[in-house]
Amino acid sequence: MTETVLAVLNQPSRDAAAHDPSADAFTFEAPLDHQLEVQDLGVVRGDGVFETITVVDGRPQALEAHLARFVRSAGMLDLPLPDLDAWRRAIEAVCAELDPVREAFAKTVLTRGVEGSGRPTGWVYAAASGDSTPARTEGISVVTLDRGYRHDVERTSPWLLQGAKTLSYAVNMAALREATRRGADDALFVTTDGYVLEGTRANLVMSVAGRLVTPRTDIGILAGTTQADVFRFAEQQGIETSYELVTMDDLRAADALWLVSSVRQAAPIRSVDGHEHAMDLAMTEQVNDFLLSRES
Ligand code: PLP
Repeated sequence: MTETVLAVLNQPSRDAAAHDPSADAFTFEAPLDHQLEVQDLGVVRGDGVFETITVVDGRPQALEAHLARFVRSAGMLDLPLPDLDAWRRAIEAVCAELDPVREAFAKTVLTRGVEGSGRPTGWVYAAASGDSTPARTEGISVVTLDRGYRHDVERTSPWLLQGAKTLSYAVNMAALREATRRGADDALFVTTDGYVLEGTRANLVMSVAGRLVTPRTDIGILAGTTQADVFRFAEQQGIETSYELVTMDDLRAADALWLVSSVRQAAPIRSVDGHEHAMDLAMTEQVNDFLLSRES
């Protein structure tokens, strides 16, 4: 059996600083001393799934919705399905160990494991969240970016895994960098046939003539746990909700827009492609109060 030899580079790119300026170019490490083996398919192919769960005052939010999506994503990748009792216990354990903090997150990761091992790798970690107050109170700017797929991609090409929360987020991060290059805070993906999809890490919710509208979830986007709870809030308030195909004209005509996601919660959109958009800050505050006080 070939032994695995691992070298960890001190400075993998000259465009970035060394990890330790006084150390050698690389060091050999014993892979089994590490939690993650270098051949893990989650690392070398992004072949795995994850969830990021908001934790408020030590309590994971929308936990069952996240676990259900974790299973759904794993199923879409033909991964061994997660043992939910074990994951639930692990999530609760890491949350219980956190230093008391108002807002934190727990991240669950399930990969296909080392090629040929037949054993998936799984871990969960929790940490304090960054401050989302500016995004929630001052709003964010977005640019629309073509995702390069039609709105029916999930049905025509399921192997593209649109709608699964996979570890392959390099495209989402590249879109975010492109948004930054264009002077915006985030990107909003659009299909090649003109329908608005989702943000790089969030769903779109629009206020339209007193209703809340979000893009249909069968068009290759992630079904958001936060969006579902925003709709639960709306229903409690007697506000009508609907899932629709949303065009760029619909987006521009909406009374208010939000990107909603775990951790950041509801961030009002203050401009789209450089054009100012009206915000509903009173509704934003109500929605965020509701989201942050969820009991489950
Ligand atoms: N869409 C994408 C692409 C995401 O990555 C995320 C969250 O990470 C969402 C939507 C929002 O999902 P949730 O509200 O469950 O966090």
